[in-house]
Formats: sequence, C-alpha cells, structure tokens
Amino acid sequence: MEENSNFIRSIIKEDLASGKRKNVVTRFPPEPNGYLHIGHAKSIVINFGIADEFNGTTNLRFDDTNPLKEDQEYVDAIKHDVEWLGYQWENLHYASNYFSEMYERAVLLIKKGKAYVDDLSAEEIREYRGTLTEPGKESPYRNRTVEENLDLFLRMKNGEFENGQKVLRAKIDMTAGNINMRDPVLYRVSHATHHNTGDTWCIYPMYAFAHPLEDAIEEVTHSLCTTEFEEQRPLYNWVIEECEMEAKPQQIEFGRLNIENTVMSKRKLKQLVDENYVDGWDDPRMPTISGLRRKGFTPESIREFVQATGVSKGSGAVDEAMLDHFVREDLKMKAPRTMGILNPLKVVITNYPEGQVEMLDAEINPENPEMGSRQIPFSREIYVEQDDFMEDPPKKYFRLFPGNEVRLKHAYFIKCEEVIKDDEGNVIELRCTYDPETKSGSGFTGRKVKGTLHWVEATQAVSAQFRLYEPLIRDEDLKSADGNEGKTFLDFVNEQSLSIQHGFIEPTMKDSKPHDKFQFFRHGYFNVDPKHTTEEQLVFNRIVSLKSSFKL
Ligand code: ATP
Ligand code: MG
Ligand code: MG
Repeated sequence: MEENSNFIRSIIKEDLASGKRKNVVTRFPPEPNGYLHIGHAKSIVINFGIADEFNGTTNLRFDDTNPLKEDQEYVDAIKHDVEWLGYQWENLHYASNYFSEMYERAVLLIKKGKAYVDDLSAEEIREYRGTLTEPGKESPYRNRTVEENLDLFLRMKNGEFENGQKVLRAKIDMTAGNINMRDPVLYRVSHATHHNTGDTWCIYPMYAFAHPLEDAIEEVTHSLCTTEFEEQRPLYNWVIEECEMEAKPQQIEFGRLNIENTVMSKRKLKQLVDENYVDGWDDPRMPTISGLRRKGFTPESIREFVQATGVSKGSGAVDEAMLDHFVREDLKMKAPRTMGILNPLKVVITNYPEGQVEMLDAEINPENPEMGSRQIPFSREIYVEQDDFMEDPPKKYFRLFPGNEVRLKHAYFIKCEEVIKDDEGNVIELRCTYDPETKSGSGFTGRKVKGTLHWVEATQAVSAQFRLYEPLIRDEDLKSADGNEGKTFLDFVNEQSLSIQHGFIEPTMKDSKPHDKFQFFRHGYFNVDPKHTTEEQLVFNRIVSLKSSFKL
C-alpha cells in the first residue's frame, strides 16, 4: 500500500497517537457461502496488512448467520486460501457461536423499548419503508407492549411461527433520512439446519444487527469494510450503543476492487459452477483465489497486485492486464525457461547424420544466471510450431518459408528446402538443411538471420497438453446485451475462453510436478495443472503470455 494514499493508515495512526485506541484489532469476515475471489484478497491484504503494521492482530471470522447458503466445504476452502496468501489469523471465530449472546442483546433492546415484533410481511415492510423522498409509515404492530414483545420473541425462538410470519425490528425512526434507520429488521424466522449450530435455532439475526455485535464481542478496534456499507454506519453505531456493548469498534469503508472483464460476485461465480460452465470453483478462468492458484498465480503476485491498486474510497475497475503484469514480474526471476511446441510440425534435417543425437547446452534463465543450464537433445528430426511456417508468406515474415533460413534457439541455422503435404494438401512435414558452422555459442558471424524459432527434438520429446485461456465473460459483450430481455450473464460466456492444444515439451521436463512453473520460449508462463495432470500426461495452464502493453 502506498504510504500516502492510504487513509485508513492515517486514521489508525491518529487513534493511537490521541490515545483513543491502545491497540489495533481487525478481522476478515467472509460469509462461507462460496470460495474467495480476488476482491476478497483486497480485504485480506488490507485487514492483515494494516494490523501487522501497527503490531496488531487480525481474526478470521466466518460470518455464518445465514443457514441456507453456508457449507463446511466453503469454510475449509477459505481457511486454506487465507493461509496460502501468506496470512495467519490470531483467532478463528464463527459468528454462529455468538447466537446466544445476540439473542440476549435483542431481548435487552425489547426491554428498553427499542425493538418490537412485527407481523407485517416482507413485502409490506418494504412498502411501509418509504423512499428517499418520502418518509416511511409506522407498522400497526409498532406499539406492542414490552411484555407482549418479550413473549412473542420467545415464541419465535421456540419455533411457534412459520418462516416470514414474524420478525423482530429495531424501533428507531420511520421518518429518518437514512432509510437503513427506518426500523430495520433484526431477526427473522428460518426453519433451517445450520452447518454449525444444527437445529438449535430457528430464528437468525440479520447481517446489520449481527455484524456490529460480532465486531464488539471480539473487541475489534477498526472494522474495515467496503463502501456499500457506508449508509449502514449509523445503524452499526446504533446497535453497539443500544445493545450496551463495552467495546466500540469503528467502521471504516474502502472502495471495492473491480477488474475489467472479470465477473466478481460469489452469487454469479456459484452459478457458473453449479451450471457447469466451468469445471469447479478452481477453474483457471475463475477469479477465485483457488482458480488463480490453479492457473499458476503466486501469492506474492496477488499481494503485490492488490497493494498496487491502493486503498481509497473509489472503486473503478482496474485493467486485468495489471494482474498479469504482477505475475510476470514475480516469475521473471523464478521460472526456468524451456521450449514447448503447442501445435507441432515435423522438420527433418536431411544433412544431419541419421541416428546421431547431440546434447546442447542451454541456459535456464538469462535473467537469473544462478539458475545454471540444462542439456537439450538435438537430432535429425525436430518439431517446430505450425504457426512458424508459411508456404506463401507476406512481406516481413521472418520465420520458415521455402528457401528461408532461421535460427533454432540454442542450436543451428536451418534452411527450408522442401514442403511435404498429405493428399488433401495439408503441410505435414518440412525438409530442411542445417549449417554446422552456425552452432549456438560458437561465435559464428558469417551471416545473419532475422527469425529465431523454438523447437523440440522429436525422438525424445514428451507429449503434453496446453490449456490457453481468455476472459470467461467480456464487459463489452455484457454491455452490448443491455436491454436484451430474458438473457442473463450466462448467455455471454465466451466460448473461446478455454482452448486445448496437444504438443511436445523437452525431455528434462517429464518429471514436472503440479504447480511447477515455467516460461516457455515465446509462449509465456505456464503452470502444471494439479487437476488434469496424470501419470501419463502433463497438462500446462498458461498463466500469461509474455508481451503486454500494460504500463504501471
Ligand atoms: P460478493 O459480493 O462477491 O458475494 P461479499 O461481500 O458478499 O462478496 P463476504 O464473504 O461478505 O462477500 O466478504 C468478506 C469481506 O470481503 C467483506 O468485508 C467484503 O466487504 C470484502 N470484499 C468482498 N468483495 C470485495 C471486493 N471486490 N473488494 C474488496 N473487498 C471485498
Ligand atoms: Mg457479505
Ligand atoms: Mg455476497
């Protein structure tokens, strides 16, 4: 986070300097109703990062007050993702462990005449609430006595009412300018089994009531959340005051992270998973932490990216190329260079001795010479990319075409002499000659060529699968769909978002393990896929291509 642009840091500094606070406690409060996405990473980096700066602590708290959508699978995945990003929580909490205390605080509100049981339906409550320009109307049940409210709330808890039949509401002000203060609902009836508390409860607190209590119970000092909660801050403070909580956390809002061409809402991501548009929450096209990990992003690259987006009140979308930039930066020094052919075309070097294989020396990472070198075989038969040959090329095409000479990376110059085709006229093989004088590293300066190609020796090549990705859904496609009745975002899934190619890699790579990362010469950075890789076949996910016009 940039030293000057972080207003949260300034607030905390002042709080400590003035003695308003003696310590710093933050929390990351996901609802376990889905996997974490890159937007959550922003909240994680801010909460853990800022506490760490001030020698404070951060809790991981599962905000599990909605029994219908929550699941242990999500709890486990979230813990794993937070740790993988490189953070360790001080305490692990479940909001559901506070249900008894929350109930007691609600009873306290009733006793103080600050809450009442309402029989209006959800729809009626919405109607009575009014609008920005029109004050709300009081419910006919608003003036029930304390005794009656206590009795009805107890009976709600005891399961005497159906879902939606009764709610508990705060008694604040139906004419308040801030609509959130017009007697918000605090508790609802929901006959549902909760992943943590089972069937103990059939009433559940609403987020706006539960969240401030959770923060106060844990003695959180600074409750950092996104700007859509700004309007709720008066209610947050009201709950803490009226429930007579001892600790007084302060809510501070920052702008959400949004990324271009990236769907970032758990609800939508869940739909993509449930309706099989992707192969799970960790599909490499998903902006989830687990998807980015599977694609090959590193924790460092995600943290650096998030920090570079800064902390402010604004929430404009950042260019997705910015995320790619940070993983390139991180892998530049770490990832071994190698050669892989995604779309093979056989080349026979007719003047190279049959049966001979020589080993060539190739540096592993020119940007990090300490990584040393590897040996790669070269022989009479190699594979090059189909894209690196054109029978009838345009001007300024410097790769293979009849009569042209190119350099093979780490090896020799070869010249295309003959093109072999099948019955249908497809090019299936090239016949070339090589010049032994031109061996890489020999200091040959006799003549120059403009193209340098990657290649893999054919007899020892290891077959591999390559998966290339594009955005799952593009903003411009969604925009062009505005007013397109009856369609949802699912109708705009990019059919080219995954393309699978079968090719070859260097033999030294055959023992690669899931999550090993490489830079394939000219193709970009790749990660060994942990899900589809088998004993027989390595599968590589492209993390990013090499080139970008992105500038920080
Ligand atoms: P979504 O809208 O994607 O479902 P959410 O806000 O409902 O996300 P929670 O599980 O409640 O998901 O989020 C946990 C924390 O992460 C919250 O404090 C929330 O504000 C924060 N968070 C969620 N999305 C973003 C985002 N895009 N940028 C920054 N913080 C985010
Ligand atoms: Mg939420
Ligand atoms: Mg949500």
